[in-house]
Amino acid sequence: MCFERTSSMASSAQFLISPVDKERRREKEEKYDLVDYDSLPEFLKHNEFIVNYYRSEWPLKQTVLSVFSIHNETLNIWTHLIGFLVFLALTGYALSIFQFGVGGEPFVGSTTVGNSSSTFVPLQSLLGIGYRSVNFDVIPTALHPVSRWPFYLYLLGAMFCLLMSGACHLLSCHSAKTSYVMLRLDFAGISGLIVSSFYPLVYYPFACNPFIRDLYLSSITIFGAAVVIVSLLPVFDSPQFRPVRAVLFACMAASGIVPIAHKLMAFGHRPEAVLTTVYEAAMLAFYGLGVVVYALRVPERWMPGRFDVAGHSHQLFHVLVVAGAYTHYLASLVYLGWREAEGC
Ligand SMILES: [Zn+2]
Repeated sequence: MCFERTSSMASSAQFLISPVDKERRREKEEKYDLVDYDSLPEFLKHNEFIVNYYRSEWPLKQTVLSVFSIHNETLNIWTHLIGFLVFLALTGYALSIFQFGVGGEPFVGSTTVGNSSSTFVPLQSLLGIGYRSVNFDVIPTALHPVSRWPFYLYLLGAMFCLLMSGACHLLSCHSAKTSYVMLRLDFAGISGLIVSSFYPLVYYPFACNPFIRDLYLSSITIFGAAVVIVSLLPVFDSPQFRPVRAVLFACMAASGIVPIAHKLMAFGHRPEAVLTTVYEAAMLAFYGLGVVVYALRVPERWMPGRFDVAGHSHQLFHVLVVAGAYTHYLASLVYLGWREAEGC
């Protein structure tokens, strides 16, 4: 009796299902299997040491939803999405603790504007870093409002890079065309991170020498724009030109050594100059190690198939990129505090 009733309810329910619902149900029930490397189309073949767990040419909806499922890109996506969220939180935190002064110039410090005044708080102590490392025995009493846009530009560049990278890893498996577009956005993101990294690094130490400051900043910006344009050329998509593109990115990042060396020569006596150089050396070490791991494709090269889901080189590369970007964030805070305390 009970069975009969259930069956008749099921059949009447079936009768009521609209074609749209049927289509939805079919989509839900259709299973998109993960495939192995040999089954992939050419545009998805990047690393033969990752043997299995590939998504291949899935519909857009399933591709987007796969952000919550396990495959060989899951950790590549989340390492950079979490990095993006960390930088978003850092931006929110910085915005929340900085006070805003005359003409919208944000700063932390003691000043008097009209009848209102605010109390000086050293930036490093507020942010909990650098303050003990740098000898700020004499807490500055004079305030020098400092433009914060180079600092925020860097945060924006880091967020753009991490978000584009996460999206590229999530969506590229959809189709050759999507992969083409997403890879270009990824290149633009990498260039954006490198170029925006130069802004706090150049703007604050050379704030009192506008010619040098603008020379460095315009040079790296033109260099970055040129690399983005070059990366858009279809010829650079061919396997024989891919190393050229990688070398261009590496040269762009390595050119940061010039303003860092200049800063040390000009301000080597300042503890902030030394501390920021230590951070920058750590940043370059993280990025450099990341590139080496990426290029050598270790550890998966040693045990193909063993690190398909977790532990392969690209995931390690992503973690090292986030670590490098965070180190530069710390350096940027020291730069800000330095210029804010010293002025010109
Ligand atoms: Zn990546």
